[in-house]
Amino acid sequence: VPKYKVTVVGSGNWGSVASKLIASNTLKLSSFHDEVKMWVFEETLPTGEKLTEVINQTNENVKYLPGIKLGKNVVADPNIEHAVKDANMLVFVTPHQFMEGICRRLVGKVKPDVKAISLIKGMEVKMEGPCMISTLISDQLGINCCVLMGANIANEIAVEKFSEATVGYREDREVAQRWVRLFSTSYFHVSPVQDVEGVELCGTLKNVVALAAGFVDGLEMGNNTKAAIMRIGLREMKTFSKLMFSTVKDSTFFESCGVADLITTCLGGRNRKVAEAFARNGGKRSFDELEAEMLQGQKLQGVSTARELYEVLSKRGWHELFPLFTTVHDISVGRLPPSAIVEYSEHTPNFS
Ligand code: NAD
Ligand code: 13P
Repeated sequence: VPKYKVTVVGSGNWGSVASKLIASNTLKLSSFHDEVKMWVFEETLPTGEKLTEVINQTNENVKYLPGIKLGKNVVADPNIEHAVKDANMLVFVTPHQFMEGICRRLVGKVKPDVKAISLIKGMEVKMEGPCMISTLISDQLGINCCVLMGANIANEIAVEKFSEATVGYREDREVAQRWVRLFSTSYFHVSPVQDVEGVELCGTLKNVVALAAGFVDGLEMGNNTKAAIMRIGLREMKTFSKLMFSTVKDSTFFESCGVADLITTCLGGRNRKVAEAFARNGGKRSFDELEAEMLQGQKLQGVSTARELYEVLSKRGWHELFPLFTTVHDISVGRLPPSAIVEYSEHTPNFS
């Protein structure tokens, strides 16, 4: 019986943890090849060594996940075409801004019947409107693409603390079940939901709400204000998702990808952390500068998502319906002070 070969495209903080999770399962499950390939965007470390070589020698991603063994069956590969060519299952997990370029490079380079899953929280904005990353992957490469989102701060899963996640799928429940098997462990519980758009929009939009929560923290406005901002943010997430895709289910917002991811990101995520520093500095230091200083090469998704969302809202004349989303972008580009997050977001939108 042929075994499924798995390649992970991406090796940042979550990419490395996802590889570790998957590699622990491929060793145990007979339907998967033991080896997990991990494409690494090659870089030279301050020691002069190549990141890929160090990962393969030490079994650790010393830059993006130091101190954690990935599993001996994870093999880092700097050549993306080589890493994907034999794969039957592709896991995409890079910061979203790199995905258009990656997809362009992969056209015609993957097996035609390969199945994909995206762990990427973000979207692209095209002339026609927003394009979710799973749609970019399936349209560009002509392949089936599920999503996996959830309350999943990577560093906590790396040390095997319990968490849950949601797999969103379109039609093929059997493929979704295969992804569930590949990711599930005793400390990582995965549930399938037939609502790709709802799951992916939850993961994408909560990063914008996390910036708002970070502003509130930076201004030391307290827990009630933060909870209010999270509630308003969740309502905007739901309204936007349903306006974009009428198929989005209410129940999706109660899965791990919905309210649980919103909570964990607003408490302990990178978007929150950097937004807090931004507000403490009165918006005088840019997000780019703070990101470079605070995250050691890791990337924020919320700031670019807020901009992309703003573009969609402008094109559709929806700013009034989404005061929180609109204000987060205005603050992040310096058009409004951080304190505007409360003044402006509290206006009840006409649509609810
Ligand atoms: P990260 O933030 O650690 O990003 C750094 C990665 O980007 C590195 O692998 C780096 O090599 C790569 N990179 C830099 N420049 C590049 C380029 N030009 N082309 C391609 N790659 C380049 O990455 P991450 O934490 O693995 O996040 C990936 C996705 O997973 C994001 O959409 C994020 O929202 C999502 N996510 C992250 C977490 C988390 O806790 N880290 C949890 C859930 C979901
Ligand atoms: P941050 O990118 O803000 O750290 O969020 C991580 C995440 O998506 C947790 O599920």
